Amino acid sequence: MSNTSYNPYEIAQQQFDSVASKLDLDAATCELLRQPMREYHFTIPVKMDDGSTKIFKGFRVQHNDARGPAKGGIRFHPMETVDTIRALSLWMTWKCSVVDIPLGGAKGGVICDPRNLTEREQERLCRGYVRQLAKNVGPNSDVPAPDVMTNAKHMLWMLDEYETIHGSRYPGFITGKPVGMGGSLGRTEATGFGVIYVLNEALKNLNIPIENTTASFQGFGNVSQYAVRLYQQLGGKVVAISCWNETDKKAYTFRKLDGMDINALVSITDSYGTIDKEKAMGLGYEVLPGDAWIEQDVDILIPAAMENQITIENVNKISKQVKVITEAANGPTTPDADKVIADRNIFLIPDFLANAGGVTCSYFEQVQSNQNYYWEKDEVLEKLNTKMTSAFKSVYELSQSKGLRMREAAYVIAINRVAQAVKSRGWI
Ligand code: GLU
Repeated sequence: MSNTSYNPYEIAQQQFDSVASKLDLDAATCELLRQPMREYHFTIPVKMDDGSTKIFKGFRVQHNDARGPAKGGIRFHPMETVDTIRALSLWMTWKCSVVDIPLGGAKGGVICDPRNLTEREQERLCRGYVRQLAKNVGPNSDVPAPDVMTNAKHMLWMLDEYETIHGSRYPGFITGKPVGMGGSLGRTEATGFGVIYVLNEALKNLNIPIENTTASFQGFGNVSQYAVRLYQQLGGKVVAISCWNETDKKAYTFRKLDGMDINALVSITDSYGTIDKEKAMGLGYEVLPGDAWIEQDVDILIPAAMENQITIENVNKISKQVKVITEAANGPTTPDADKVIADRNIFLIPDFLANAGGVTCSYFEQVQSNQNYYWEKDEVLEKLNTKMTSAFKSVYELSQSKGLRMREAAYVIAINRVAQAVKSRGWI
């Protein structure tokens, strides 16, 4: 995000344009879908614990709501940019569409570093964010959720502020709430588990037994931790995980070639996904440079951190052994690196399909919240697996029958559904 020569919004638009040009779409539909329909930019004054007031910058971008209320997370990050939020809002529309849930796409963000804010300051920031937006979001218009550095606690403060302003209970306003306070069982696991549901399906199609595979992960936040767990349960071996270290201001890769103990690792990891370096060394982990995750001799690479991570600078470091890349993060691969991956015939499961488990479970959460009736965890995860697997199959079949890469096939399905909704509503 900090790299000014890298603009995720331009990438999201390029990806759209290149697929749209091959579809039978009229010019007005293309123009409508290649940019957000609405954007809110605002300031949030927050009273700090030391008595001073700080002004934060916030955004909410609604890309498209033709298929249902706009949907997407809110990120807290010191390097946040509006173009990142715009790109992510487009990707949310395609994500909800490719898994065929009745929601559109949106994304929000605040330029801030929650690692340097106290609990009370974070609460005031969440409430301030909602106060600026309360008239423009809601259970039937735009439904936020957690994303990078936001969690269930933040969602509940935001819900409480929204309900206070509107004078009633609206549990369907936001998802990713704590279980017992309107949250769904399985939501915490959903994105990471979804990544592995589609990976497992891909491996079956490629005739690679998952129990014979090894993997390297980038990132050790919520998504990565649950993906590692399920991948190991299914018999895979994780040999490397990289994560950011805020104190040293750089990333490290932790490696153990005979496999990693996920519970031990989680017990030495903070709430932002940083593994304690000294404790890891004490547990026998090798500590390598941050980039080392990408050059491991493994079968599967799973970028599960931020955008702009597999680039033309490091793509050629990918080992010849790698057969599958599953994009758990949003936008981790730049278009030039993507081309190298395609030329090398590595099977890539694109971000907006691979990580759609989170929003799919958010949809289940919204359904449960609106009915005020909550399902068992097994039921949630079974429904999630069914949705993810069937989305994977549709994309895979189209890619096979039309000779498309998985990213293109996913785009074709997603864009066509949204274009159809726009047309059926009579917008175009
Ligand atoms: N932030 C997650 C994503 O990028 C989840 C969004 C949601 O649940 O609305 O998909």
